Amino acid sequence: MGQGSSDHGTWNRNRSNNTLDQPGCALARKNHYVELVVDQGTSAPGGETAPGPPQDRLGRPLRSLRLSVTDRCNLRCRYCMPETDYQWLPRGELLDFDELSRLIDRFCEVGVSRVRVTGGEPLLRRGLSKLIERIAAKPPIRDVAMTTNGLLLRQQATALQEAGVARLTVSLDTLQPKRFEALTRRDALAEVLAGIRAASRAGFACESGPTAPGLARLKIDTVVMQGINEDELCPLLDFAAEVSAELRFIEYMDVGGATRWSADGVVTRAAILAAIEQQLGTPTPLPGRGAAPAERFALPDGRTFGVVASMTEPFCQACDRSRLTSDGFWYQCLYAQSGIDLKTPLRGGASDGELTALVDHCWRKRSDHGAEDRASLEKRDTLVPAAALRGNPHLEMHTRGG
Ligand code: SAM
Ligand code: SF4
Repeated sequence: MGQGSSDHGTWNRNRSNNTLDQPGCALARKNHYVELVVDQGTSAPGGETAPGPPQDRLGRPLRSLRLSVTDRCNLRCRYCMPETDYQWLPRGELLDFDELSRLIDRFCEVGVSRVRVTGGEPLLRRGLSKLIERIAAKPPIRDVAMTTNGLLLRQQATALQEAGVARLTVSLDTLQPKRFEALTRRDALAEVLAGIRAASRAGFACESGPTAPGLARLKIDTVVMQGINEDELCPLLDFAAEVSAELRFIEYMDVGGATRWSADGVVTRAAILAAIEQQLGTPTPLPGRGAAPAERFALPDGRTFGVVASMTEPFCQACDRSRLTSDGFWYQCLYAQSGIDLKTPLRGGASDGELTALVDHCWRKRSDHGAEDRASLEKRDTLVPAAALRGNPHLEMHTRGG
């Protein structure tokens, strides 16, 4: 996988025909009319259109959209934003709610029924509840979820619930204040815990137990790092039970932004399960995972938890997700080195039908399996060096959304 290459889906305004650089896609502009020309695809307007929602080259449908509503964040987690300085997306490039809503409609037309709002820190986006209301009101959308660091959750939990967020995931890696500060560069553990408790009271509390539905309403995500927090698995499970949340342990990933990543820092799924077994008894795998990133387990005491083993057991074959950045770049894989620029045609006069056809066409051409590619490397190192990230912030996890 090449490193640091630029986004290849950019509409180049300087070209006479405004061609999209994404292979196979070209938008030709004729006065105010934009025509999508697809050289070898199956969904060109006016041409042959394959019936039904598109599947990619590995037979995967597009069902889930992760919507990054901002690249800004109020924490600096060591595994995500460890650097001192960051190159931010220019504010004028951010899509407004009308633009985001219009793009989401296009994704719905090709099969998306679930949206997860993320970032950066999504609760920094002003007026977010208004956007959530609009997303939740779309008939094809059956699930609106959000991932947040929880810092602003205490104030916003009820509004999010009322706006239509059905499932909430809060990131929490430690219950120790000093450790939290060392991990995030902010002395703010108490606010995050208060946010999680507020969410639990606001109606996100979930049933636990082996028979509880797989789509827990309140989840806590913990990135487990060697030498940092691997000694807190049981205390975190206890806290999750106290607030009626389900915990997910996540393997530390070598995604863009994780510039301090090393293989030694990863606590594997096997090690997580072994540590839990030693203290709490054998976890029993639960069925019904589907395309979910987490495998769920039940403990002998009836509590449940999940493990997201993207590093040691990648689940690319079932991946039905893709990511849209706050400035309208579409990434078909978390590890993708380039994305598809939807903002330029959106702001350049493309019709709804043309945008839908573009999304449809590009999904059919998708063959990404980035986590499997990474897992097959003999020696694994940082995905993108810090200097390259400064040159292209789209490569950052906090830009494209986790
Ligand atoms: N700021 C929000 C938060 O932290 O929940 C949402 C965005 S954050 C990028 C989404 C998720 O990505 C978080 O749960 C975070 O723990 C996870 N994440 C970020 N970098 C990671 C890494 N290197 N390995 C594993 N998970 C990571
Ligand atoms: Fe941490 Fe989320 Fe911010 Fe990344 S985006 S630094 S994971 S809070």
